[in-house]
Amino acid sequence: MKAPILPGATIGVLGSGQLGRMFAMAARRMGYRVHTLSPDDDTPTGQVADVEVTAPYEDLDAIRAFAAAVDVVTFEFENVPAGAVEVAAQHAPVRPSGHVLHITQQRAREKGYLADEGFPVTPFAHVRTADDLRVAIATIGTPAVLKTASFGYDGKGQRRVDRAADAEAAWTAMGGVESVLERFIAFDREVSMIVARGATGWITTYGLIENTHERHILDTSVYPARVEEHVERRAAGIVRALAERLDLVGALCVEFFLTVDGELLINELAPRPHNSGHLTIDACVCSQFEQQLRAICALPPGSTELLRPAAMVNLLGDLWAAREPDWAAACLLPGVKLHLYGKAQPRPGRKMGHITALAGSTDAALELARRARAAL
Ligand code: AMP
Repeated sequence: MKAPILPGATIGVLGSGQLGRMFAMAARRMGYRVHTLSPDDDTPTGQVADVEVTAPYEDLDAIRAFAAAVDVVTFEFENVPAGAVEVAAQHAPVRPSGHVLHITQQRAREKGYLADEGFPVTPFAHVRTADDLRVAIATIGTPAVLKTASFGYDGKGQRRVDRAADAEAAWTAMGGVESVLERFIAFDREVSMIVARGATGWITTYGLIENTHERHILDTSVYPARVEEHVERRAAGIVRALAERLDLVGALCVEFFLTVDGELLINELAPRPHNSGHLTIDACVCSQFEQQLRAICALPPGSTELLRPAAMVNLLGDLWAAREPDWAAACLLPGVKLHLYGKAQPRPGRKMGHITALAGSTDAALELARRARAAL
């Protein structure tokens, strides 16, 4: 039995974006102290943490000192180098473990793991050379999507390949780096499920969340998803088995394609809270961030009960193009909660905040959230 890490203890967060910020807010509400480390300063997490350390992840002395000053280390950014995680683990438990990070850091490895372990995954082929690419096109067919194996998120490092003849040019344009070629899935909808597994072995799942993307970036999420109950049960079975198999300690988001044939295919894993789960802050008894905290601190799980149907819309930097958005106009609408991440530079495509709307139904919540964003 793992001993609980109780309120008053200090949590170390590697990475300093909005996920770390919302995690830190949940942790501080429960009386924990939070330290964060990343190469930047005045960060979304640093602004609400007790201590902000500015150092590159490759600075192992800084990582060592950081880990020695906290009771448990977690992360909000899965591309933390393995060396940093190893050094941190010599001084404090790292949850989730380096093993989970290693699998999910690289697309080809993640997909290979899922396929080997018998989880349903989008058909894919691993591409390292031009020859691999030819074989991949022959086995996967077109249309397909070519994705870089490392450091891709929000559609960065992705190209659609509509004709076999275009594949090589797409790959070359992406730098000819290690990639995966995936079949393009004609999905009915995209859904995600957040699972958490505690250091003491419990597992909890939220329900399915339904997502839409714009330019490959998450645009809207609604909860509960508008899917049949058996789809939800199947997804829960998959994510529970995966959390167990990975020996996960923490939160994990599994993104699925729900195909027109009713099949669930895993697109991607994120070994942390996820953008699609932000609405759990306002809509559920226990948010995905508090659940991550409870998991890594060996506390009992919180209730994932949904209090009210909810919808979330992301606020990207594009909204700032003409002028500062009209925050007061959005705040005027009842049932709307505004979340901003404290980022100074509103670049196009940059996630600056989100709006969650609560209403009597999923459809009404989505309509309200969209109305609030339009009012900005
Ligand atoms: P990813 O970064 O892999 O999560 O991709 C971002 C978004 O691109 C997904 O949420 C989908 O909307 C779209 N996408 C990615 N891969 C595929 C695929 N194999 N088939 C269809 N759409 C895809």
